[in-house]
Amino acid sequence: MLAILLARRGFRVTVYERRSDPRGANLDSGRSINLALAARGIRGLERAGVLERVMPFAIPMRGRMVHTDGGAELQMYGVRPDEVIYSVGRAHLNLALIEAADRFENVELRFGRAATGLTADNRVELRDAAGRVETAELAPTIATDGAGSPVRDALAVRGIARVREEPLAHDYKELTIPAAGGRPALDANALHIWPRGGFMLIALPNPGGTFTATLFLARHGANSFEQLVTGDDVQAFFQREFPGARALMPDLAREFFEHPQGQLGTVYTEGWHAGGDVLLLGDAAHAIVPFHGQGMNCAFEDCVELDDLLAKGGSMDEVFAAFERRRKPNTDAIAEMALENYVEMRETVLDPEYRRKKAAAEKREKSDPNAIPRYSMVMFHPEIPYAEARARSLTR
Ligand SMILES: Cc1cc2nc3c(=O)[nH]c(=O)nc-3n(C[C@H](O)[C@H](O)[C@H](O)COP(=O)(O)OP(=O)(O)OC[C@H]3O[C@@H](n4cnc5c(N)ncnc54)[C@H](O)[C@@H]3O)c2cc1C
Repeated sequence: MLAILLARRGFRVTVYERRSDPRGANLDSGRSINLALAARGIRGLERAGVLERVMPFAIPMRGRMVHTDGGAELQMYGVRPDEVIYSVGRAHLNLALIEAADRFENVELRFGRAATGLTADNRVELRDAAGRVETAELAPTIATDGAGSPVRDALAVRGIARVREEPLAHDYKELTIPAAGGRPALDANALHIWPRGGFMLIALPNPGGTFTATLFLARHGANSFEQLVTGDDVQAFFQREFPGARALMPDLAREFFEHPQGQLGTVYTEGWHAGGDVLLLGDAAHAIVPFHGQGMNCAFEDCVELDDLLAKGGSMDEVFAAFERRRKPNTDAIAEMALENYVEMRETVLDPEYRRKKAAAEKREKSDPNAIPRYSMVMFHPEIPYAEARARSLTR
């Protein structure tokens, strides 16, 4: 997205990507991983001119379907019919953006190049699969190399970036709920949650009627990944905790051991730029846990805000400094809200008091459009910065 926005401003852009070119690969083979897209991300896709390529495969989710022993209850996300979030396939989204970026003459895509660090004069150093080393020809570098960013590490070694990484004690594992007789086995227009207090299972719909389910569970201790050693352990755990979902997962044990166990955490960084030479953006600057469905949305919002600052003009150093000043309070706020939302999703949604308060908040919002609940401010109101959304919700 950033390459597209920069190209539109007339910059020459080279995109270096560690992975190989996904074009030509069969997107429907292998694992399907999806993300919740909301208003902040939609605004970015719109600005990049890619929204109409993404929406045909985006599935609206109007609320969270909470599965308990007593059955399932739909808790609507918003008060208006258009207040929905969308499930989008990561691979399709990547492809739409790559194809759109490649249409610009001033964008060059170089796959199979991994950033390894920075040279003394702040150029990015890269290595290909054969071990050949090159230095980026263009400057400045905007590092969007994700939560484990080697460019961030290089800035940290020089004392420019001060980094605090807070790993979560819970990991995740992605599983599949296949279509049943060609039809979705669950309501396809909802995000499904099986909250169990200390842990949870969620599922988001895919085109074709399948769902990607994600188990979030502690690494160690009672009810943890370390206890799920054999196929029987996995089956017994799911039968005890998620019998309804287990009945929909014929490949549960095989997938459980074939799919990786992913780690989660928050990365807090101060010092996102080296003068006008290097800037960290997206997860590289501020990775968060996924429980508000905002990491990608926030990264897309970064792109829009950097684009706005470039439009205003000034030296790169000034633009990068203004970017960090403007974004840091907001990315800190969404990092906290994402952690808080884990407790809400796995536990609080079960509490009758929470449901009463939610109903009261929705009623208030209908009569006073300024009394917007926190979830709605984050998901449906990109004009309200994250920090303001959090502050407004805490003063209520
Ligand atoms: C389980 C899970 C569920 C999530 N669900 C949601 C959701 O529902 N909604 C949402 O908004 N967000 C969600 N997120 C967060 C979202 O995935 C990230 O915030 C988002 O992908 C960040 O984008 P990015 O471009 O900054 O980094 P990434 O998406 O990590 O992209 C980094 C890119 O850089 C490449 N790269 C990495 N290292 C190098 C290197 N050294 N050199 C060159 N290239 C490199 C990678 O191959 C990749 O293409 C979720 C995350 C997880 C883990």
